[in-house]
Amino acid sequence: MTKTKIGIVGYGNLGRGVEGAIAQNDDLELVAVFTRRSPEKLQTASNAVVHHVDDVENFIGKIDVMIICGGSATDLPEQVPYFAQWFNTIDSYDTHAKIPAFYETVDQVAQQANTTSIVSVGWDPGLFSLNRVLGEAVLPQGDTYTFWGDGLSQGHSDAIRRISGVKKAVQYTLPVPAAVNRVRNGESPELSTREKHTRVCYIVTDDHASQSVITEAIITMPNYFADYDTTVNYITEEEFEENHTGMPHGGFVIRSGQSVEGHKQIMEFSLKLESNPYFTSSVLVAYARAAHRLAQKGQFGALSVFDVPFSAISPKTPQQLRAELL
Ligand code: NDP
Repeated sequence: MTKTKIGIVGYGNLGRGVEGAIAQNDDLELVAVFTRRSPEKLQTASNAVVHHVDDVENFIGKIDVMIICGGSATDLPEQVPYFAQWFNTIDSYDTHAKIPAFYETVDQVAQQANTTSIVSVGWDPGLFSLNRVLGEAVLPQGDTYTFWGDGLSQGHSDAIRRISGVKKAVQYTLPVPAAVNRVRNGESPELSTREKHTRVCYIVTDDHASQSVITEAIITMPNYFADYDTTVNYITEEEFEENHTGMPHGGFVIRSGQSVEGHKQIMEFSLKLESNPYFTSSVLVAYARAAHRLAQKGQFGALSVFDVPFSAISPKTPQQLRAELL
């Protein structure tokens, strides 16, 4: 069997996760990791070959798909169009409001270069997006709800860490059980931001910091916390290290609708993730297989998860899929 050759751009949480996920798939092989840092100083978990990103042109024709693992804020908008000039790509761009513009930029490059770029892959955007479409298409009369959590929000944790006196901090997003239950019962309620999710923070402060000042700064912070009910807990550094260094996440997409004769129909997809980045990496790797296949068929340009046939992400043949999973 000829294996699909994968390159990884950027070695953070996702990069490490992709490296491990490739090893779980017999039809894929890792060719090299590319980083903006000094390659000789970067030790990867599997002792993969590491190159500087500036060497990437030497790999044209030697790598089938580049999985771009940079951050959404500034890395991916630059890196994905750049690498799409030469390689099929996968990315996890998750700034929802900017995805259409990002798609157009990548599409222009990929159309011209005859490469295939599947953008905004992961769980949200990604698997949750697929389930939102599925729900709407099957039950056109109804409402779609997305609840996130219990999970660690990196952006909100960063926002707290910027407050003076905060030494370490994590923020978890939790769905409000009463709201979830109403949706699951088919009520189709209109829910405000505050009614859908709560936020819980665990904080270690510097020695002389004022907890009341920090709490006030958090709960009144516009965009991040002001619209939510937020609980702030102060804990010791030992407790923080013991209980709050993982990256769990998850949530559910629920479509609550009606079919003919007013029958209530509830569709639900849920994820409970011990590690957000490592699960996301597994999704990226499955879609890398699809990018290679679609490129081989000449389907060039940018694609979203909506445009990728399910059979393309599986290592099984269409015949096997029909026999085993249909
Ligand atoms: P990281 O911050 O861990 O890594 C981002 C980049 O930072 C890496 O590619 C790496 O590039 C650089 N980097 C990593 N560690 C270091 C370090 N110690 N020192 C210097 N540079 C470092 O981000 P994640 O991998 O956790 O996440 C990437 C993006 O994935 C997020 O921004 C998020 O938006 C997105 N995401 C999407 C999801 C989805 O469902 N669609 C779910 C989860 C995340 P280099 O090696 O070149 O220096």
